[in-house]
Amino acid sequence: MEVAKTIESIRALIKAARRVGGKIGLVPTMGALHVGHTSLIEAAVKACDFVVVSIFVNPTQFGPGEDFEKYPRPLEADLEICEKAGVDVVFNPTPQEMYKAENLTWVNVEKLTEGLCGASRPGHFRGVATVCAKLFNIVQPDVAYFGQKDAQQAIVIKRMVVDLNMPLEIVVCPTVREPDGLAVSSRNKYLSAQQRKDAAGIYRSLQKCKEIIEAGETDAKQIIAQMHKILDEIPGGEIEYVEIVDAETLERVDAISGRALAAIAVKLGPARLIDNILVDTTKQ
Ligand code: AMP
Repeated sequence: MEVAKTIESIRALIKAARRVGGKIGLVPTMGALHVGHTSLIEAAVKACDFVVVSIFVNPTQFGPGEDFEKYPRPLEADLEICEKAGVDVVFNPTPQEMYKAENLTWVNVEKLTEGLCGASRPGHFRGVATVCAKLFNIVQPDVAYFGQKDAQQAIVIKRMVVDLNMPLEIVVCPTVREPDGLAVSSRNKYLSAQQRKDAAGIYRSLQKCKEIIEAGETDAKQIIAQMHKILDEIPGGEIEYVEIVDAETLERVDAISGRALAAIAVKLGPARLIDNILVDTTKQ
């Protein structure tokens, strides 16, 4: 496995891989790799001939006062995970390499970025879309892999690719969870043992939503009230949003019909945790 630190060196490796031929897969990450990430890497290794994992804590997607500085960066352990998983190249640039000069060009996906996490993290999705556009231009993958865990991010990136005619496929992989249902996340490390236990309430709330919908309830307000009841019991939990939105447009729905996304963001101690599930009333 190669580790490329510069755009020039990753481009040379990609050029060589293109000469051999086959499908190039990219898994963009911020590192601190866990089983959620490895599920994406495994999907890429299975479907592609040459797999690039990018490890880059992207400064432009963090707001003031967010955890950019303290975000975990265990590079040696990450490289070991990638090597074991059969990755061909890890692209690990510095912020200076990715943003050489003052950045004047940004990718702004409208509407889809206004609600959910976009409402409390202004500029976050602009940073995400811009860095993904840069990574797609640098690596020029045939396929890029994202997790359903960050549902809004996946939808935003899919839309960017369509709107800007980028020649790649976006594959979204299912959320990997801990045995108690908590979505695996690099930010779970910030939780105390008690908070970690309490955080399972987020998934219980999503399961409740699924159950109620399966029992025939379609009124989003009623469902959200039930979800709130469970979340309200998380000691010290600060609920940022509990919403049911259309799974494509991310617009709030009053009455659920078809594919909807139930999404939650909760601040718990030092961590901001997000999770979601897709519900499909047409499949009942
Ligand atoms: P991050 O390093 O947090 O930016 O995540 C990199 C990619 O891994 C994103 O596409 C995430 O959606 C995905 N990911 C993170 N956690 C999980 C998880 N628990 N299950 C599936 N995918 C995940």
